[in-house]
Amino acid sequence: MNAEIIAVGSELLLGQIANTNAQFISKGLADIGVNVFYHSVAGDNQNRLSSVIQTAMSRSDLIIFTGGLGPTKDDLTKETIAKLFQKELVHDEAALQYITNYFVQTNREMTPNNKKQALIIEGSTVLPNDNGMAPGMAFTHRNITCILLPGPPSEMRPMFNNYVIPYLYSKMDVQTKFHSRVLRFFGIGESVLETKLQDLIEKQSNPTIAPLASEHEVTIRLTAAHPSETEAKRLLDEVEQEVLSRTGSYFYGYDDETLENQTFDLLRNNQLTIASAESLTGGLFSKIITDFPGSSSVYQGGAVVYSNALKQSMLKVPHTLITDHGVVSSQCAEWMAEEIRSQTEADIGISFTGVAGPEAQEDKPTGTVFIGISIHDQTHSFSLKLAGTRKAIRERTVKHGFRYLNQLVKEGQ
Ligand code: ATP
Ligand code: MG
Repeated sequence: MNAEIIAVGSELLLGQIANTNAQFISKGLADIGVNVFYHSVAGDNQNRLSSVIQTAMSRSDLIIFTGGLGPTKDDLTKETIAKLFQKELVHDEAALQYITNYFVQTNREMTPNNKKQALIIEGSTVLPNDNGMAPGMAFTHRNITCILLPGPPSEMRPMFNNYVIPYLYSKMDVQTKFHSRVLRFFGIGESVLETKLQDLIEKQSNPTIAPLASEHEVTIRLTAAHPSETEAKRLLDEVEQEVLSRTGSYFYGYDDETLENQTFDLLRNNQLTIASAESLTGGLFSKIITDFPGSSSVYQGGAVVYSNALKQSMLKVPHTLITDHGVVSSQCAEWMAEEIRSQTEADIGISFTGVAGPEAQEDKPTGTVFIGISIHDQTHSFSLKLAGTRKAIRERTVKHGFRYLNQLVKEGQ
């Protein structure tokens, strides 16, 4: 199956947004062994969109569209495709039901142009939109399969994973299916990880092993091709075991799990409460932990203690500790963690102190960071030397905080 992706939207051409949908879809198709040979972008213009589609029809058997399914005049993907495939747009009860439900659930009023979204290309399979209004659709005409997906990534991605992949599987006449598993690591660089796995990566065939760097993390995607799911799983388990035997301590989870999410669940499931004292991170830890619904059962609160004076008055950091070791020190991190824990009566206190840069502080270079964690009547501190911009240093610091928390809670279990 040879595929191409057409993204529709003038914002893409104007450079206002990046075409991340094409990237996401390409990756998803690669995982199931579908070749993607072209990406194109067309603005919200019927003539130019038509010409891109005609070209695609002449060379691909799967065309995936994203964008332009909305209710407004400039959303003309459906109309243009219908015209070229000589199909009618028809009202679809199921689609109308999805849209009506969406309005009921979000307690919003439906306007007449929303009904336009219940129009589908005749003969299509409707792909439910679990996170928005415009349903997607898929149809095959003269050996060309078209799949229409909405533009907003929050709608497109789940639709792709939950409905497009199964749809494509049902179309693919090949017996082999692809099964993927993502292993997630933190605290190890991509190149170090690759070096540790070099021989495995070199001799890989089935499953394939693909390292990927993402935001401050490294992931490895294992993909096994096999007609039997059980056998594919066995192949994945085998390689995973080998990979983890070399990199185990940096591994934290699978697939869409995040370090933050996993740590939060760990705290909640162990009925542990936590409070934070933050200096260089300025509340970033608080922000991230309170992003989780139900955070009040875990997070007691915290203090942003930025100045030395506040560290002394609010957290009672002794003047001598500061003159002897400085505020950027393991001693200060430990003090802050212990103090915030005892003041809030939380089970755990976590603290962040360090130099986010760009200027050095207390003669300590940018990226010098100490994290304190007071837990199970013990206080630990971790010293880090981080590189990057001020923003990256602060973000990485918090990630490391979650990582150490994760480790300590697991050790204490
Ligand atoms: P809506 O119902 O929101 O109008 P739509 O299916 O008509 O959805 P568009 O109007 O084309 O989609 O795009 C809506 C938003 O989705 C864009 O403003 C943009 O933020 C995002 N978006 C669209 N296309 C892409 C893309 N290819 N990559 C990443 N984001 C995109
Ligand atoms: Mg739109």
